[in-house]
Amino acid sequence: MESKERFNVESFNLDHTLVAAPYIRTADVKELGQERIVKFDVRFTQPNEKFIPTDALHSLEHLLAENIRNHTDQVIDLSPMGCRTGFYLIMKGHVTTEEAARSILLALQDVLEATEVPGCSPIHCGNYRDHDLEGAQLWARRFLSVPHAQLIKVFREELSPEELEHVPAWTGFVK
Ligand SMILES: [Zn+2]
Repeated sequence: MESKERFNVESFNLDHTLVAAPYIRTADVKELGQERIVKFDVRFTQPNEKFIPTDALHSLEHLLAENIRNHTDQVIDLSPMGCRTGFYLIMKGHVTTEEAARSILLALQDVLEATEVPGCSPIHCGNYRDHDLEGAQLWARRFLSVPHAQLIKVFREELSPEELEHVPAWTGFVK
């Protein structure tokens, strides 16, 4: 086998052409002494096909980062990806993809019920005009519409023909 170039950043070593969004995957695990830190890749849209508008992504970030901490005390960070196709969630402890998915889905349910974006003011945010609550709720609704069993499958080859047939158009997934 020919040697492939390896990067320091885990996601640069992921072949983005093989995934099937949306999905939740364990991206990286780090042991820090007795502590374990797990990084999850929470992908909403198909890489290089679709991405979330900045204002909706920004509001979703505020809403998820605030609400997910009501469901677990293991969150270290939740931040949007620069490519705007999803988020990274970093948690402490032996957290499985299933457990992370449960917390994310609970926080997304909270997004649907929100009447305002938390921290949306010039005091609490670095770009408070760039928000879209309705857009955030649209993307939350979309993610929640996907069957749980499908969300934890990452690669195209893991999906059954039936699942491949029903990947929603909004993901940008090309069959
Ligand atoms: Zn902000």
